[in-house]
Amino acid sequence: MTTHRAASPGRVSLEMPVKFLKGVGDRRSELLNRLGIATAGDLLYHVPHRYEDASTITPINRIAPGMDVTALGRVISKGVLPTRKGLKVFQAVVRDSSGMIEVGWPGQVWLDRVIQKGDLLLLSGPCRFYHGRQLQPREWVNFGGDEDVDGDHGRVLAVYPATEGFTPRQIRALIAQHLDVLLPLVREYLDDGLLRRAGQAPLGEALRMMHRPASMAEAMTGRNRLAFDELFFAHILHRRANAIARRTREGIRFVKDDKLQAALRSVLPWKLTGAQERAVVEITDDMCSPRRMHRLLQGDVGSGKTVVALFAALLAIENDFQVALMAPTELLAEQHQRTITALLAPVGVRCELITGSTGAARRREVEARLASQEPLLVIGTHVLIQEKATLGKPGLVIIDEQQRFGVGHRAAIAAGGGEPDVLLMSATPIPRSLALTIYGDLDVSTLDERPPGRRPVTTAVRPESARARVITFIDQQVEKGQQAYIVYPVIDESEKTDLKAATRMYEELSSGPFAKRKVALLHGRIPAAERDRVMREFRDGVIDILIATTVIEVGIDVPAATVMVVEHPERFGLSQLHQLRGRVGRGGDASYCILLGDASPEASERLQLFAGTDDGFEIARADLRLRGMGDLFGERQSGLASFKVADPLRDEAINITAREMAWGVLEGDPELKLPKNAGIRDVLASRYSRALELFRVG
Ligand code: ADP
Ligand code: MG
Repeated sequence: MTTHRAASPGRVSLEMPVKFLKGVGDRRSELLNRLGIATAGDLLYHVPHRYEDASTITPINRIAPGMDVTALGRVISKGVLPTRKGLKVFQAVVRDSSGMIEVGWPGQVWLDRVIQKGDLLLLSGPCRFYHGRQLQPREWVNFGGDEDVDGDHGRVLAVYPATEGFTPRQIRALIAQHLDVLLPLVREYLDDGLLRRAGQAPLGEALRMMHRPASMAEAMTGRNRLAFDELFFAHILHRRANAIARRTREGIRFVKDDKLQAALRSVLPWKLTGAQERAVVEITDDMCSPRRMHRLLQGDVGSGKTVVALFAALLAIENDFQVALMAPTELLAEQHQRTITALLAPVGVRCELITGSTGAARRREVEARLASQEPLLVIGTHVLIQEKATLGKPGLVIIDEQQRFGVGHRAAIAAGGGEPDVLLMSATPIPRSLALTIYGDLDVSTLDERPPGRRPVTTAVRPESARARVITFIDQQVEKGQQAYIVYPVIDESEKTDLKAATRMYEELSSGPFAKRKVALLHGRIPAAERDRVMREFRDGVIDILIATTVIEVGIDVPAATVMVVEHPERFGLSQLHQLRGRVGRGGDASYCILLGDASPEASERLQLFAGTDDGFEIARADLRLRGMGDLFGERQSGLASFKVADPLRDEAINITAREMAWGVLEGDPELKLPKNAGIRDVLASRYSRALELFRVG
């Protein structure tokens, strides 16, 4: 590789501005700043986004047009050639022991000054047919004239995120130039025992492996240590924040006397699943502690979250407190009220409803009841947030389909007066370690089991050419007295073109193949009152076929609906499709989910994966892997912007270990006062702005 002279070690420190490193200066330091590199130490933490592995080199004589290859060879001739269209191409002919090939860099005339005859080049990119074979490198490395790359050294090359005016190659050269001086300055901050148990390399060694790996495996080992650190410190912070919040979050200490809970148990028509039992115990213990509960109950559609929430509600009511259950839509609130009233009536507990369409007189009545501090359950939509001030004796707030509420709403609820316990419910279950990473200071209960006896929904992926048959199938189902949804992707309800597709289909179907049927159209731009009226009619069987956007996604229960057709399914996330599928199969009849349309091969694969499983966890995992966190949780909620290296899902195993280690450290030393944890404290102080307030010794 390029020969270099090390900067004089005496004056270099990790904290010094990168500008003072040899070979940087003002202009380059500005470019580096753009990459988030301000100090010499930051340069060490500039993580390669991938590696070129020279050990997977294709012999030149085996390269053919259409292949994407990595080749290693020496330049035997070079020059700039004009093409017929007037573009200039820098070309070189490169040879290895098997043969030679032309390499072309269209437009990059300046390379003529950089690449010399005799230089050894590592090239990777596609081979095209251009008067014969031509390799057009995406990435390349110049080892220079006298480098011999036969040994192990330098066979795996780091490729760094770069910026205009500062190429990956130049960044690699800069890091290579200073690595030997900077590495000895690195101080380990985790103790040996912990690193050994976590299976992680010491920091200095890890950074060396990351920047100058002898093998791909070393590169991974180095990178994994940085991922581990990010996750480890995130868990330290979350755990500590959680502990403090619990301490300061003084709440109600409910007492379990089991009167109402036992009564509910005796009227339930079925037994709780093991998962439900576990969740009830976790929630009950939490509510009976002197701290405020802040807990997420997650479980797949149909896993039976509602009844678990009811046990929590009854514990609060047994203790003479009031409980609010909030749903994201009026319809869902009404539905809850109906099913819950049926369950609670024999138990002798009152269940009220307040939504935007509750009449004034009725509303005053409920408000008076709330103000009187009478123990009861009140169900409602976000209007309840405004009403909450008037809850005379708030003991517990339950939020159903919490992802449908804005961050602001949730904060308003959590910060509300009266210090009620809070239970959030989510139908997008994710692995526990990930939930703890994402939701941070929440505790998590998971329903990972479905009540027995529900028939799986038959899921099929059908091409456009099958449309007529699908329509006939829907018609046959309706003929039998069942109902169907046809869903269109309208991601943004203000998007006119998308709505037009749904509207056009509505017109076409309701006047054509379904002329004899009752068909209705539902989307987000239809006023809420009208929307609820349509949904009610569908629920009551007045409407046979509902053509809709994802406004129907959440929670509604229509037992006679047995068909869910999704158009352009490739435009939905898998978890979203799973929610939609959860809208059918709610009665005893066989139900179907049909994904209709011609998708790309890649999308088809995704859809087949979806059709092949009914497991919400697996689907959420696949979704996360394919579409990233932001999509599923929203950047703000996920707070994942803080991870540079780690991917809590891909790095699930590392994440689990990081969590165990972090919790272990805090268990033995909650305030990080022990000398052996001083290193952790230092890192928190320098890297995490929230940290100091959490660990101020008190
Ligand atoms: P979700 O978790 O999607 O909110 P629900 O609470 O609406 O699920 O429950 C789905 C259905 O399963 C409801 O009809 C409910 O009555 C039923 N259910 C809940 N728990 C059980 C159980 N342990 N055994 C049988 N059916 C149950
Ligand atoms: Mg539900």
